[in-house]
Amino acid sequence: MPSFDTSLATAQKLDANDELASFKQQFHFPKHNGNDTIYFCGNSLGLQPKNVEAAVQQELDDWKNVAIAGFSKAKTPWLYYQEYLRPSLANIVGAKEAEVTVMNTLTVNLHLLMLSFYRPTKQRFRIMMEAGAFPSDQYAVETLVKHYNLNPDDCIVEIAPRENEKILREEDIIEAIRIHDDSLALVMFGGINYYTGQLFDMKRIAEAAHAAGSVAGFDLAHAAGNVPMQLHDWNIDFAVWCNYKYLNGGPGCVGGVFVHEKFAVNADMPRLAGWWGNDEKTRFKMEKGFIAKTNASGWNISTAQVLNTVALKASLELFDKAGIQKLRAKSLQLTAYLEFLLKQLTNINFEIITPVEPERRGAQLSLYFKDKGKEIHDKMINSGIVVDYREPGVIRVAPAPMYCSFEDVYRFYEILLSGL
Ligand SMILES: *Cc1c(COP(=O)(O)O)cnc(C)c1O
Repeated sequence: MPSFDTSLATAQKLDANDELASFKQQFHFPKHNGNDTIYFCGNSLGLQPKNVEAAVQQELDDWKNVAIAGFSKAKTPWLYYQEYLRPSLANIVGAKEAEVTVMNTLTVNLHLLMLSFYRPTKQRFRIMMEAGAFPSDQYAVETLVKHYNLNPDDCIVEIAPRENEKILREEDIIEAIRIHDDSLALVMFGGINYYTGQLFDMKRIAEAAHAAGSVAGFDLAHAAGNVPMQLHDWNIDFAVWCNYKYLNGGPGCVGGVFVHEKFAVNADMPRLAGWWGNDEKTRFKMEKGFIAKTNASGWNISTAQVLNTVALKASLELFDKAGIQKLRAKSLQLTAYLEFLLKQLTNINFEIITPVEPERRGAQLSLYFKDKGKEIHDKMINSGIVVDYREPGVIRVAPAPMYCSFEDVYRFYEILLSGL
C-alpha cells in the first residue's frame, strides 16, 4: 500500500500509476452543468459501457433483418445466448462454467433456487439470514415460508449485530449456526451487506452450515464484480446475483445463478422447470417429460432474453480485459485512500460503519452522519458527485475501480473538507 497524503498531486500520481485508468474512457457518465459527474453509485446501478450501444443495435438489426432465423443466423446466434456469458461470469465468481447461467432477475432467481434447496421437514425447517437484509430478500424468504404453510416467526432466524455495534461478528453467525444445528434447512446470507458494506466469510459460513447439515446459499448482488470469489472451492451450494450493479449490465438486466456442480449434475434435483432447461437433444422434440440439463442451465426456464442480456455481454468484455484480480487490487487501494482522506477530516461528525479490515469489505464505505447527512448528500449532488443516501443519515460511497479515479475520491474529500 502506498503512503497517502492530502494533496491533489498525490491523487494524480496514483492515477498516473494506475494501469486500469484508461477504462474510465470506456463509460458514459451522467452530466452535471455540462461536465461528467463523479459516479460513486456503481453499487446500485453501474454506468453504461460505450460498447453497449453498438451491441444492442446489432441485435435490433438481426431481429429486423432475419427475424426467426436469428436463433441460428444472428451474428451472435440467439439459441445459445446464455452460454456466451458463462466463461466471464464463471471467472468473476470463481466457478466452473457448468456451474453458472443467466436468467430472469435476482429476486426471481432467489425464489427459484430456494425452491430447489429449501426442503423443510418437521425436524429441519429454519432459514438463517442476516437481520436487515435487503428487503426483497426478506420478502422472498418470508413468502417462501408461508408458501409451505409455515410460520415465519418460527422458521426465520435473523442474526443481528450486538448491542451498540453496527456490523455482524462472524463468530456470532457461526455460533448461531451451531446452536440451531439440526433445525437449520438453509443458511442464506448476502455476500456483502448492501447497507454496511460488510463482506462475509462465505467459505466459513458454508462450512459451518454444512457441519450442521444445512445448505448454504448467498445473494451476491453487492459482491459480484466487486470482490473476486471462489464459489466452487468454497463449496457454496448455490448463489444468485444481479448484473446491473458492479457488473454494469443495465437496469433490470438478466440475473446470474450459480449451482454447485455436486447438485447441478443431478437431473433429479427438484426445480420449477421450462423448456430452456431441458436437455438440448430432446428440447425441440416437444415431448412429454422434462429432462434437465446436467449443469446450471438446467434451471433456465425460458428462451434467452437477448435484449436483456446483450448489454451485460458487452460489459463483460471489459471485465475480461481488466481482470477481476486487477480490479480488486485497484479497488483495495481506492477504498483505502478514501478511508485515509476521511480520517483526516475533523470538521464533520461522522462514523465509517463498514469494517476497517480490507478483507471484510469491497469497494463501498458507508458513512453515518450523526447530523446533516441529508444536507451533505444534497451538497454532493449539487457539486456533481453522485452518491446515495439512506435514512437515518447514511451515505454509501462506492468507488468502482472500473471507472472511478483517485482524483474522483479526492474531489469527494474536498467537498467534505469545505463543510456545509
Ligand atoms: C439490489 C439487490 C436486490 C434487487 O433485486 P432485483 O430482483 O434485481 O430487483 C436484491 N437483493 C439484494 C441484496 C440487492 O442488493
